[in-house]
Amino acid sequence: MTTGAENRISDLIERIRYHNDRYYVDDAPEVPDAEYDELVRELVELEAAHPELVRPDSPTQMVGADPSTLFTPVEHQVPMMSLDNAFDRGELVAWADRAQRRLATEELGDLVCELKFDGLAVSLRYENGVLVQGATRGNGRVGEDITANILTIKSVPHRLPEGAPRVLEVRGEVYMPLVAFEALNAQQEAEGKPRYANPRNTAAGSLRQKDPATTATRGLSMWCYSVGEVQGGPALNTHSATLEYLDSLNLPVNPETTTVDSLDKAWEFVERSEGMRHDLPYEIDGAVIKVDRLDLQQGLGATSRAPRWAIAYKLPPEERTTKLLDIHVSIGSKGKATPFAVLEPVFVGGSTVAMATLHNEDQVKAKDVRPGDTVVVRKAGDVIPEVLGSVLADRAPDSAEWEFPEVCPCLHQQPLIREEGDAAHYCLYPRCPEQLRGWIEHFAARNALDIEHLGEQRVRLFIDLGFISDVGDIYALPYESIRELEGFGELSVANLTAAVEASKQQSLARLLVGLNIRHLGDTTCELLADAFGSLDQIMEASVEELAEVDGIGPIMAESVHEFFQSEVNREIIEKLRAAGLNFAGHADNVDEEALPQTLEGMTIVVTGGVEGYTRDGVGAAIKARGGKSPSSVSSKTTALVVGENPGTSKLDKAEKLGIPVLDEAQFQRLIETGELP
Ligand code: NAD
Repeated sequence: MTTGAENRISDLIERIRYHNDRYYVDDAPEVPDAEYDELVRELVELEAAHPELVRPDSPTQMVGADPSTLFTPVEHQVPMMSLDNAFDRGELVAWADRAQRRLATEELGDLVCELKFDGLAVSLRYENGVLVQGATRGNGRVGEDITANILTIKSVPHRLPEGAPRVLEVRGEVYMPLVAFEALNAQQEAEGKPRYANPRNTAAGSLRQKDPATTATRGLSMWCYSVGEVQGGPALNTHSATLEYLDSLNLPVNPETTTVDSLDKAWEFVERSEGMRHDLPYEIDGAVIKVDRLDLQQGLGATSRAPRWAIAYKLPPEERTTKLLDIHVSIGSKGKATPFAVLEPVFVGGSTVAMATLHNEDQVKAKDVRPGDTVVVRKAGDVIPEVLGSVLADRAPDSAEWEFPEVCPCLHQQPLIREEGDAAHYCLYPRCPEQLRGWIEHFAARNALDIEHLGEQRVRLFIDLGFISDVGDIYALPYESIRELEGFGELSVANLTAAVEASKQQSLARLLVGLNIRHLGDTTCELLADAFGSLDQIMEASVEELAEVDGIGPIMAESVHEFFQSEVNREIIEKLRAAGLNFAGHADNVDEEALPQTLEGMTIVVTGGVEGYTRDGVGAAIKARGGKSPSSVSSKTTALVVGENPGTSKLDKAEKLGIPVLDEAQFQRLIETGELP
């Protein structure tokens, strides 16, 4: 008679086998590891409660999955095993107790603490010091021949130093460093292809390629952590000595590995590994504690699946599944429309996640995530949560593909525009309230107009109360009404007024930063301010004139020009002018009226340091006397001043264009008299 437990066991075995195939054979699991681990855990518990129901073909009794027929099989002389897991300190202590009982000893001796690298296990076979074979773990007894692929991994030596053993099988983990993973994803995004979900599956997929040339482009790496068959070589008594030996053979052994003399200290390592998790340049999913003495390891032996002398502590999961309730679009401070997932809240990566980015239209399409789907969410450290993809097996048959909305979600419903060659959509309407808050905050930020006392909450409040509908309104705040608001005393209103007043004196470059023009950053704003000297000149400049400035590319030039073409933006600019903001580029503290305008109409470029001036100061001195001081030489340049340690490119260009070149003394005379030598 079949029991409920027996049925459940069969069901679990079937499901785990299905997921094993997705994970080990396809390198494309459908569910996060944590969910897979829960199935395994339930099976382990049921089998413990009903030992008579343990089947020899249960995944709890076996390693991995059968090797794929795509590769030549490789038989492992010494089996490659899995590891038993501990999820908390109690389980770690229980493991040590079990081991001690089995050995009938009080002590396990030293313990080696290693990181648990999140990649895939491989075995490298060296014969007389030459790498002759690389294989995957497969089902532990038979793996797949991936020699050609292994040979493409830079950190794996093809040849060991003189004196290497006759036969040496090295076991370790092949992984994808985070930089390589990010580079690969950047390339995917640029090509409108889906991002890879995580480095572990990407590493596995990259290594198990039929074409090793593809593997070679993936930047894989490896850490070695044990040996299989060894013939010849020194007699070694401990695991730590084995690792040292591998290291001496130039095999990559992880530097975080440490040997400790108590379980308490091993636990400290586990805790440290949790702290290190996001600072390492590769992913780990836990720590592994191993008994150091090889004679004790031998005494403990192994089950059919895992050694009894080691235990893996698994870190809390950073990927989980949940329901995708809907996809909304958020509008950023520059009008960028970013789709994001509204999720059934899920606890993952240490916090509850209810929203996650979907990047852009191409990524939603490539991942084909749809409202109603069960999706995999990833939240790693401080990184913003991300939806990796849908669990297709759970998709409702009537689900429909998601379409990017045509208009902005704000009340003005202006079109969302996606320009050619850009992955993002934008709402270009300057009074879009969705982007206004971001714009105001950006305008008031430290690197822009630096308006203290105008923080996020106040911005929100003033927008809600209708006091601000664009950045120009910051200079026409109704202080009488503000004074009446809760939380605003006389002093705070005075502070706010003073901060708003002070911001009028900020430089042209900062004002440009505050205008929040697409594609411009702080440095490019400075370049423009330097080159044109006033906001009016920038506003009137053609795309070509803008692009002539060194450091300003055609996309930026186009963006600046377009910004000032907008009627609404012009209205905003006029509000700022009327409020008395600093539209001229002159340094705030230079009283230009007091200086003779000797350089009126001249464009003086400076290269190198000029005695008596700071780098900014020399430009300010030129502008204070009516001149312009752009950063690059063009046909419009009146003269190039060459100071100490000059750059050669400006000099070359000036000579090519036949522009006068002045030394410091000649420059000094020019400033004083306005006369070129
Ligand atoms: P495991 O990953 O829990 O532990 C064993 C493996 O850890 C070893 O084979 C080795 O590859 C690796 N490892 C990393 N660092 C090590 C070190 N310092 N020393 C020794 N080994 C080290 O076990 P497993 O059998 O490889 O795989 C089971 C795990 O794989 C599951 O817990 C789950 O996380 C994942 N999995 C997920 C799915 C899925 O559908 N999401 C399916 C199957 C397996």
